[in-house]
Amino acid sequence: MLRGASGMKRDNIGILTCPECGHKQEMEIPTKSCVPFYECSTCRKLIHAKKSCCVFCDYGDRPCPVGKKI
Ligand SMILES: [Zn+2]
Repeated sequence: MLRGASGMKRDNIGILTCPECGHKQEMEIPTKSCVPFYECSTCRKLIHAKKSCCVFCDYGDRPCPVGKKI
């Protein structure tokens, strides 16, 4: 994976894709806890994680650091 050389601090930002409307929104990934659900800013639906503990693992572009398993 490429690491951004622009100096922007993006390590804890994940992009969630809403399964209802496909809207992508950026959200901060907490390092100590999982995010079991989030509200889509477009369709206002509460999106719950189904396959895993965390919406970032289910709908994000990267898994959350908490649920990381080898
Ligand atoms: Zn949505």
